[in-house]
Amino acid sequence: MIEFVNVSKVYKATGTRALSNFNVSIDRGEFVFVVGPSGAGKSTFIKLLMREEKPTSGEIYVNGQNLVRLKRRKVPYYRRTLGVVFQDFRLIPTMNVYDNVAFALRVTNVSAKDIRSRVPYILGLVGLSGKAKSLPEHLSGGEQQRVALARALVNNPPLIIADEPTGNIDPDLSFEIVDLLSEINKCGTTIVMVTHEHNLVSEFDHRVITIDEGTIISDDRNRGYYDE
Ligand code: ADP
Ligand code: ADP
Repeated sequence: MIEFVNVSKVYKATGTRALSNFNVSIDRGEFVFVVGPSGAGKSTFIKLLMREEKPTSGEIYVNGQNLVRLKRRKVPYYRRTLGVVFQDFRLIPTMNVYDNVAFALRVTNVSAKDIRSRVPYILGLVGLSGKAKSLPEHLSGGEQQRVALARALVNNPPLIIADEPTGNIDPDLSFEIVDLLSEINKCGTTIVMVTHEHNLVSEFDHRVITIDEGTIISDDRNRGYYDE
């Protein structure tokens, strides 16, 4: 599903080497936490995955596509195959919950009939059926993140990228979000989640990749022998 081969990223403006000789392989259906201190290169990894940045050298393959060679005009289509969840939710404030989720389908070729069946189904999945008509500002942080998750899921993406999705919500609600992501993962969706919350990571039995100074310093597929 995801393959980074000898990837290096140097930001030209500052000369900062954010990733060096970065190699990783993530299979379809895996749930991977990416952890590491501030400045380690986690966001750079996500930006490369989303093709917001290109590597300075190396190859990146996601879902059968070579991201280095992907033509600029094909990038929007590539991004539509990803479900992305951000720390700051990024909901449309003037749209209610239903429309925030439906909007993600309206920009694709999905029929009105399919939207009418798909949106309520996904809202039910994230436990927000009763909030369909609420505006984001009337929801708690945990609820807003569940709307963002519903929006990311509604297109059935094979890969979900979550960048610090629990950074702005209470610890008990954070657990719920990761629990929900884990349920989605059980249905076959690959999940890559960046976080700095070690307590949260240790509550789940998922692969943990630790990045520091632009390289992977630990990759624990079995969790058992992870000790920091
Ligand atoms: P993390 O997400 O783990 O905090 P980042 O990927 O944001 O790490 O940053 C890795 C390194 O790259 C840091 O030294 C950071 O200052 C630098 N960096 C990140 N983005 C840019 C940018 N757009 N221009 C220059 N340097 C950057
Ligand atoms: P939490 O403490 O879990 O972050 P809140 O106390 O903010 O959540 O909200 C509790 C419930 O009240 C939520 O279900 C939310 O949707 C609803 N709610 C919060 N603020 C408003 C509001 N201004 N108008 C309508 N409903 C609201």
